[in-house]
Amino acid sequence: MSEEPTPVIYWFRQDLRLDDLPALHAAVESGAPVIPCFIIDEDAPQKWAPGNASRWWLRGSLGALAKAIEKRQGTLLVRSGCSEDVLSELIEETGAYAVYCSQAYEPWNRELEERLGARLGRLGVALHCLPGSLIFTPGDVLNRAGLPFKVFTPFWRHCRSQLPESRLLPAPGVGAFAAQVPTGQDPEAWPLASSSLQPVEDWGERWTPGADGALSALDRFLNEALSGYREDRDIPAVAGTSRLSPHLHWGEISPRHVAQVLRTDAPGDTEDDQEKFLAELGWREFNQHLLFHFPHIDEQPFKDDFKSMPWRPDADAFEAWKAGLTGYPIVDAGMRELRATGFMHNRVRMICASFLTKHLLVPWQWGARWFWETLVDADLANNSGGWQWVAGCGADASPWFRIFNPVLQGKKFDPEGAYVRHWVPELAALPDRSLHAPWELAPLLLAEADVVLGETYPHPLVDHATARAQALEAYHDRSSAP
Ligand code: FAD
Repeated sequence: MSEEPTPVIYWFRQDLRLDDLPALHAAVESGAPVIPCFIIDEDAPQKWAPGNASRWWLRGSLGALAKAIEKRQGTLLVRSGCSEDVLSELIEETGAYAVYCSQAYEPWNRELEERLGARLGRLGVALHCLPGSLIFTPGDVLNRAGLPFKVFTPFWRHCRSQLPESRLLPAPGVGAFAAQVPTGQDPEAWPLASSSLQPVEDWGERWTPGADGALSALDRFLNEALSGYREDRDIPAVAGTSRLSPHLHWGEISPRHVAQVLRTDAPGDTEDDQEKFLAELGWREFNQHLLFHFPHIDEQPFKDDFKSMPWRPDADAFEAWKAGLTGYPIVDAGMRELRATGFMHNRVRMICASFLTKHLLVPWQWGARWFWETLVDADLANNSGGWQWVAGCGADASPWFRIFNPVLQGKKFDPEGAYVRHWVPELAALPDRSLHAPWELAPLLLAEADVVLGETYPHPLVDHATARAQALEAYHDRSSAP
């Protein structure tokens, strides 16, 4: 290609940043010009290909990464196809002698790393696959018996006591990237289009994919939401959380970086809130470590006895849930927020997931799939971990008999109804006291608020007490199944 020294390839995956990226740092340290590339893998298992909202995010994030690389006089090369084939072609085209990348922990990604290592080995090319997306490397955190932790509290106690004082790695400087790279695909041709399922055309106002967006979100969080996080994080009408999840999923900021900034830049008197926030990052670590040790939990329950759970795969009920038409305002608000914004508040994720799996007895995997399609932060470990936690079949799960009452949850966490009124505007004129249970209001008072149940807003899909009893019975039947 040129008279440049023999290059190495940096293969970006779920680590779309330049700062504090160990594998990229190692590539630069090799002294060879670095060819940065991203492959839209069309050969990965179709069922886990990025969903609608993730595609939107990924397109924006790649654009931001390309600009950051351009500022350093490099060019991000994007191609689509089978990762192994594309990398082999690139090696042939450039003569690269090594490929660097960050580890990813989804089962198919780990298999891909293994196959790729063997294939590159046959070509005499080294694959350097280093940790980069977590604070603690899966496989390194084990209990005294040398086994993976299955319960969060001891896992996090263990990790928390060893939280490293991080020395963050610098981004590559000008001159680190190769001056010439082979041609890639035009951004217009990237196979990352979103469907009309969600109003993604408005999302640019709401989200800023990329490393700069991640830093702004962190900055906003530190200055506006960290103080009071412990309580406010449960109130969906308040912007009381960081909204860092899509940025963390795509590796636009490292969790070490987040923890470090928390340590150095957090306002005073927020120690308690910081601890709570770190513990949430801890849940992210825990879920990734679980998926690493138990790769079947993407689709299978962690607890084996849930394999015989008598779920009711009711497609109509599932559609009503997806559309935010269950007749339970807090559930409907959450499901509509998800569709409209690609995000749902954590408390409401729990309520909606509980309603689907316990009130409707629809398999948790169906809900997880819908979230996968519609969340901008869709993440295999966190999504299956979250769903299994709520459904009661996860490693350190909420007990099955803990069946959220959606009315009480609404009253507790959205007491003035601001969240429900925003997402379910047809109920906006109802008085606070009956906003979370409109069917309890006399028809005359409903009419005064322009609500006609069954016409302007649905009757409840199920009765809470009956559904609760049926859920407990199903759970019992599971236990007594042969
Ligand atoms: P913050 O409260 O600001 O937390 C900071 C970070 O900690 C988050 O960005 C996230 O990376 C991590 N975190 C926070 N809460 C959790 C948690 N309960 N479990 C694991 N990590 C957590 N999170 C995803 O990132 N992707 C998913 O696909 C996903 N699916 C979920 C499905 C269900 C049914 C449930 C109950 C939870 C799910 N979560 C998922 C976890 C959680 O809801 C989101 O991480 C959180 O709402 C993101 O908002 P935030 O960034 O403002 O969180």
